[in-house]
Amino acid sequence: MDSDRRAFSIPSKDYRRQYEPLLEEVLGAFRRVLLEEDPILGAELERFEAEFAAYLGVRHVVGLNSGTDALVLGMRALGLRPGDEVITQANTFFATVTAIEMAGARPVLADCRRGGPEIDLDQVERALTSRTRAVIVVHLHGFATPLRRLRDLCAGRGLLLIEDAAQAHGACVEDGRRAGSVGVIGAFSFHPSKNLGAFGDGGAVATEDDGIAAALRVLRNLGKSGKHELARVGPNSKLDTLQAALLRVKLRRLEEWNARRRELARAYDAQLAGLPGLELPAPLPGTEPVYHHYPVLARQRDPLVQHLAARGIKTSLHYPVPPHLQPGLAHLGYGPGSFPEAERRAAEEISLPLGHELRLDEVAAVSAAVRAFATGTRGLVRT
Ligand SMILES: *Cc1c(COP(=O)(O)O)cnc(C)c1O
Repeated sequence: MDSDRRAFSIPSKDYRRQYEPLLEEVLGAFRRVLLEEDPILGAELERFEAEFAAYLGVRHVVGLNSGTDALVLGMRALGLRPGDEVITQANTFFATVTAIEMAGARPVLADCRRGGPEIDLDQVERALTSRTRAVIVVHLHGFATPLRRLRDLCAGRGLLLIEDAAQAHGACVEDGRRAGSVGVIGAFSFHPSKNLGAFGDGGAVATEDDGIAAALRVLRNLGKSGKHELARVGPNSKLDTLQAALLRVKLRRLEEWNARRRELARAYDAQLAGLPGLELPAPLPGTEPVYHHYPVLARQRDPLVQHLAARGIKTSLHYPVPPHLQPGLAHLGYGPGSFPEAERRAAEEISLPLGHELRLDEVAAVSAAVRAFATGTRGLVRT
């Protein structure tokens, strides 16, 4: 009975389960920071920035207050101008697209490839114009997009390559290089739901470029270049010292947690293989994914969501309405049919529960429920 109830209540996120084993260490870190440090731009923030930079293999990480600001301020630091076009993929979280506008440039979308969420390079080439200044590749779901060809394309045309690595902390794109470390800037989010999450909003830009890092340190601090000197117009967008203290504790476990996510994903792969009407995620060869999500494509997506919900299994949709069909982005001039692959994913994709805190028996219970749905023996609906 008890084990039954456990098996039939599977959350897609469980912060209590995540924080219980870390509590003493986190509280110890908070205690030290509260008693010894500056709340704003404290030494703990510098330590986290240095540690995350070392982890990624880049010279600089600049902590900001969200992943969205990492994109916006990163693009501002790159000097994009009104009229510049920035290409990104149609199947992304809409913040990738709105960030381009907030940075003052014009978003241009390109479809993802057939069979995976990675941007389709042929579609990128088709979207190029004389005004294209940058391409943002999104390592969606924690699946890294190989960048060699895109880098060559950008280098050949003088375009800036930007990585949205908000879902891909620790993923490798190729040759063991981390997502977010290859482009001129890599944008990270520390939203609580991400693989490396704060308890609140947070974000960062990773870059090799000293000038971009320096510009970001001015931009995130109201544009201040000295105590009483304003160098340019900027928002107030700093990563809090306390959040940095928490992120340092969690960064030490990121590799272990990502490995655990891969183990759980392999269990799903094995238990869901060959089911009719279901397409499993297939990270590209040579990449190392970190399974921020475990997205499957289901021909009968919405009935499957209900089937699982009736059994206490919470799933998520990433994302049911693509950016180009959102009312807030209607002015981009796209419509239904503009990006068929992105639209198919929006209609069929469902993310099964996955987090490092999940147990293998829970993955087995979810898989059994999906199998029952896919093979038509739907089992008892628990009330
Ligand atoms: C979460 C996310 C963002 C935005 O990050 P916030 O910290 O929520 O502002 C941007 N792009 C992608 C792909 C994301 O998943």
